[in-house]
Parts: sequence; C-alpha cells; structure tokens
Amino acid sequence: MPLRLYNTRTHATEPLRPLEPNHVRIYVCGLTPSAEAHLGHARSFLFFDVLRRYLEHPRNGYRVTYVQNVTDIDDRSIATAQREGTTYDAVVARFYGAFKESMRLLNVREFDHEPYATKYVPQIVEMIGELLERGYAYVTDDGIYYRVARFPRYGALSGKHVDELLIGARIAENEHKDDPLDFALWKFAKPGEPQWDSPWGSGRPGWHIECSAMSRALLGVPFDVHGGGFDLIFPHHENEIAQSEPLMDHPPMAEMWVHGGLLNYEGRKMSKSLGNFEPLTELLKRHDPLAIRLLFLQTGYRKPMNFTEESIAGAAASLQKLQKAALRLREASAAVRSGDASGFGAHAEAVYRALDDDMDTAKALGELHVAVADTARWAEAGAAGEVLAFVRTIAGIFGIGPAFEDAALDRFTAEARAQREREAQSSLDPEFVERLRERLGDALHLNGVVSAEDAIRRVIDARAQARKDKDFALGDRLRDALAAEGIALKDSKDGTTWTVAGA
Ligand SMILES: [Zn+2]
Repeated sequence: MPLRLYNTRTHATEPLRPLEPNHVRIYVCGLTPSAEAHLGHARSFLFFDVLRRYLEHPRNGYRVTYVQNVTDIDDRSIATAQREGTTYDAVVARFYGAFKESMRLLNVREFDHEPYATKYVPQIVEMIGELLERGYAYVTDDGIYYRVARFPRYGALSGKHVDELLIGARIAENEHKDDPLDFALWKFAKPGEPQWDSPWGSGRPGWHIECSAMSRALLGVPFDVHGGGFDLIFPHHENEIAQSEPLMDHPPMAEMWVHGGLLNYEGRKMSKSLGNFEPLTELLKRHDPLAIRLLFLQTGYRKPMNFTEESIAGAAASLQKLQKAALRLREASAAVRSGDASGFGAHAEAVYRALDDDMDTAKALGELHVAVADTARWAEAGAAGEVLAFVRTIAGIFGIGPAFEDAALDRFTAEARAQREREAQSSLDPEFVERLRERLGDALHLNGVVSAEDAIRRVIDARAQARKDKDFALGDRLRDALAAEGIALKDSKDGTTWTVAGA
C-alpha cells in the first residue's frame, strides 16, 4: 500500500504515484526573506522535510528532487532596503542567512535546488512571452497582467468562484488592469527600483510567475507534489496554475497539491502588531530545536496548531521519554546480542501504517511510544538491539535522529545524573559539609570545599582511588561516612552515582 496524501486539488486522500518511475519531484514555495522568519514559516518546511525523508526511506525507496525557492525580490525587501539605505540583496542575504541557520539547527536537510527568483529572469520573461502570445496576458503602462477571464478553471484549486471574488476585488480596483482579478506578471520599473531587461521594458517579475517559471525550469511540468502553507492556496497557487497550465499539453502542473496548516502563537496569529512575534532565531536559543520538531510531529501537518510554552515543554518531555527508552534498549542490547524480534513486527508496522495514511505523524509518534514502552519485554526476548535500531530509523524519518546517537544518549545520561544530584543536594542541610569534614578529617582533606555536591564528589573520587590502590578498608570507610550522612552510592560501569536516602 503506497503512501497516501491529502490532495487539495482533488479534495481527496490519494496514493502518491510518481510520474517518473521511482522519482518524486517536489516544489515547495519558500521564504520571502524581506523580514525575520518566525516559527509559522518553519512549520510547512519542517513537514516537507519529514515527507522527503520518508519518501527516501527504504519502505518507499524513492529518489526525491526537492526544490524550495527564494522570493528574493518583492515590494517589502525593496521598501526595507530603502528604509535602511541599503540594497534589496543585502536585506535578503541577512534574513535568508538567518533562516538557513535556523533550518540547520532544526535539522532540515539542504534543498536540492534553492532558486533565487532574480537568477531566473530569462525563464520568467520567456514564460510571460508565451502567455502574451496565446492571449493570456496583456501589456499596460505600468506592467504586464494575466487575464483571469481567459482561464475558465480559475478558482478550481481553492474552490472559489470568480463572481464572489469579483465582489471582494472591486474595492482594490486598479485603473491599469482590464479586470480587478487580473494580476501582475511583470512590473515596469519605478525610478530607483532594482530592474531587469525585458522585451516590453525593464522591470521586475511578479511573485506568482516566479514559481511557475522556476518549477518548469528545474523540475519540468507536470511534476508530482507542489507544496506550501495553507495560506498560499489563494491567490498564489491558483495563479501559478493559471500561468502554467495553459502552456502545457497535459495539465495539471502538479499531480498533488499538499498544504500545511497554519500556526498560532499563544492563541493568536503571530504578528509584530499583536506583540507576540518572536524571530525563529530567538526561539531557537530558548528551546531544543529537536523538541520543536517533535511538537510539530505531535500535531500533524494539516491541523491548525497553537504554539505555547507549555506545549513545547510537553514535547521536550516526550523526546526525553523516547531517549530514556533508547538508553534502556542500548543497555539491554549490550548484554544480549541476538534474539527473537518477531513480536515487534506488528508494532513497527503500526508506525509505518500511520505515516502511510497522509503522514499522520501524531499517530506514528503515539505508536512509537507504545512500541518502546515495554523495554523489559524486548530485553528479555533478546530483541533490544533490533528495537533500538527501529527507534533510530523512525527518529531519522522524523528528523530527530541526532538525539538518539550514542554521543547524545551519553550526554543525556550525564545530564540526568547531574540533575538528580542537584535535586538531592538541595535536600541536604547546611551543616552537611562541616559534619563530613569532621568525620573524615584524617582520611580526606575537605578544606575549602563548600558545596555538598563537591564534598560528595571528592569522597567518591577518593574512594575510587582507594579501591584502585586495593585499600579496601579506606574505601569502605569513605562509603560508610557518606552512608552515615544518608548518602547512598551506586556503582556501575559508567562510574559511581549517589542519592539521598528518602529524598
Ligand atoms: Zn510559489
């Protein structure tokens, strides 16, 4: 049963059947880097990163070509540049650089193609020429416009009717256009604006034509999946279809249109004017990027989502729970190397089935938690190694793999131990170090040590040395001194940890 996705174009969940054998071509509308990116921007990019990872996973085994464009010229980047006395490309370099760094922290894979609109002006001009030739566009004194009335299928993707759209559009009527719904393909240059040559006069492309021209140039049409956020369905994607499909022998331009849900921040749309705007770069300083990924996975890509500080804390806890299970499995797999993992197959299948059903990551994550809940069972069956490998595979698809690498699990153990010790220490009374110093005066100098944690560590280190020197009497005396103060030691191959009795 192949992977099924909800297709906005057909309003149905359908199997993904690539047009070329074993090759999936995806185009996702990327960022307009004219201001700082926020978490809402990241959401759909994170989803398409997971989709791409799953398509390439052996269960599907596809080669994927992934294009995500950069709208590097638009009204806002020009306005920002003018305000700051710089150039539009300097504005774009700054914001896009920050965005790419955020994507790297979020473990989003590099895109196969990352076309900048201004690098595709010849292809854009060529496409506008074709639309003019076939009567889908017309030239006015301020630019070139697409004639919506010439394309009967306009509105099919978004389910909007041209009559209804007209009522709304009259308000923003533009004297240069023949019809209020027509949209700009090319804007003739105004003084001081960046501009490129065209046969009709120098200027710059409209936003919509960029994606039509770049997807055609890099993937060819038709291709398999066109993606973006839900808010791009109208007018952007509707306009892309209107531009691309009249020039094709066999529409649609994309078999599947896949859209990600929008994000609210503490209950409201994130915006500067509402005062709840936090740049992605700042958010990533406060939170573990992999916990943010997990938070999105918990919701599922099409549902609207509300980001709150509590919800991210919940996601971080869920990530830690999986890490703890992985640690137990790693420990058990070191003890038994081979065994019977047959009982695990049904669990693995449940995770994959959830992903196959329109990338239901929320369900897949739930099934993964169920699968690893009983680590003792897999340890007993001698299957801990296989189960751990599965956890790591799914973590790889989810893009949270780095949290399950050996080094990360070791770090997790050390941090958890330090945390336990800090908590235990806070339950010790202030006289603790003084009493320990009196008790061990001749055996261990604790002068200058003020914190209970440091004193205990010193005793543990001295005991380790005594045992190495085969001075077991001293070793026992050190342990007993701690025991008399209510500190219990536990030795393992990773070293010695301590707890406060009854704490
Ligand atoms: Zn686009």
